[in-house]
Amino acid sequence: MTAPTSEQVKFAADRMLGRLARWLRVLGQDVIYGRHLSGYGLIHAARAENRLILTRDHGLKQKQPPKFIFIESNDYREQLRQVIRECGLRPGEPLFTRCLECNAVLQPKSKESVEKLVPPYVFSTQAEFFWCPQCRRVYWPATHHQKMLEELGNIGVL
Ligand SMILES: [Zn+2]
Repeated sequence: MTAPTSEQVKFAADRMLGRLARWLRVLGQDVIYGRHLSGYGLIHAARAENRLILTRDHGLKQKQPPKFIFIESNDYREQLRQVIRECGLRPGEPLFTRCLECNAVLQPKSKESVEKLVPPYVFSTQAEFFWCPQCRRVYWPATHHQKMLEELGNIGVL
C-alpha cells in the first residue's frame, strides 16, 4: 500500500486542538473543527466524511473510533510537527489555500471588488486578494503569508 499523499488525508480535530487545526489549514490541509467535535460527535463527523481524527482525549479509545492519532503535546508547535511526521505531509504546497476560520477553499477576488471590504491602507498597498465563499472573509496574501511563513520556519516545519 502506498502512503496517502497530503491531498488525500482529511482531518477532524477535536475541540481541544483549535490552534493545530488552524495551522494545518495554513498548510492547505482539510480540517474540520468546532465546539461540537468531541466524543461521539467527533467520531460521527469523522466517519461521515472518512476523516482521520486528531485528539487529545484519552477516553476516545473506548468509544470505538475510526482511525485516529493521539496528539501527545499541549504545545501546538509540537502537535503540528507530530501530525506532519505521522502523516508524511509535505508542508510547502499548497500553502494558504483554505480559510483559516471555516476550512473552505479560498477563491481569487479582484482588487476592485474588495475596496469596501478591506482597510484603505491595505487596498492601496496590496495587489492580490482572495476571499472565502463561505464566511466572506477577505485575505491578502502578502501580509498574512509573511508572518505565517516566519512562524512555520520557527516551528521547524518549512
Ligand atoms: Zn471562511
